[in-house]
Amino acid sequence: TIELRNITKRFSGNTILDGINLDIAAGSVTVILGPSGSGKSTLLRCINHLEKLDGGTIRIGGNLVGYQQKGQALYELNSRQIAAQRAQIGMVFQQFNLFPHRTVLQNIIDAPMRVKNQRRQQAVLKARSLLQQVGLAARENDWPQQLSGGQQQRVAIARALAMDPEVMLFDEPTSALDPELVGEVLQVIKKLAHSGITMVIVTHEVGFAREVADNIVFMEEGKIVAAGPTREILDDRQNLRVRNFLATVL
Ligand code: ATP
Ligand code: MG
Repeated sequence: TIELRNITKRFSGNTILDGINLDIAAGSVTVILGPSGSGKSTLLRCINHLEKLDGGTIRIGGNLVGYQQKGQALYELNSRQIAAQRAQIGMVFQQFNLFPHRTVLQNIIDAPMRVKNQRRQQAVLKARSLLQQVGLAARENDWPQQLSGGQQQRVAIARALAMDPEVMLFDEPTSALDPELVGEVLQVIKKLAHSGITMVIVTHEVGFAREVADNIVFMEEGKIVAAGPTREILDDRQNLRVRNFLATVL
């Protein structure tokens, strides 16, 4: 379970996240929707402590993220402790961020070997099975730039999965792709859903959200304005804010 309690985040005096409370059940799939600038990316970045909090707490499996508590006060973890926590949380960004001078296989085995001290042979075996899973078994020796955007994004997903994360965060994983490549990436994410990993996905793909999400969280101006089971939120004819948003993305 991921528990967000009263999260506040400010950038240069502007409140970007304004008292976010949310429980995300272990193994569930949550889609975050909301207009540009509403704080969706910032919220994801807080979950793996790429951003410090100005208030509130985040716990994953009961453990505080990014901080430790001494008495009443919270102290930030050291960089080694933060890295250890982040190893449990996979993140996939809009831009695929593969290492350009490493092959597909090298991209995937890097973190397991460096961070988890896996032996090369073990990391390679795992990488090959993940490449199979994302439909790229034949491409392990390619360079990233030899792949299409959709293929690169599938490698990025395999790379995140290579760390055996408890949580996967996706920030608009298909919005940099040509329309004809969106489906193959959504398909890979769909296959991962409900396989035990807790998934939090920011996307504008409402059809995909309807198919795959257990819960929808709708954000506006740094606040959660609607949250609940997917159909309840998407089919709520009374909620004008959600309705207007859906009208813009559908
Ligand atoms: P989009 O749909 O366009 O990706 P978003 O919902 O992901 O939007 P965020 O990227 O979280 O929105 O940004 C929320 C607000 O915080 C925006 O007004 C943005 O300008 C501001 N912001 C985000 N990161 C920073 C930063 N590092 N420094 C200053 N302001 C920031
Ligand atoms: Mg964003």
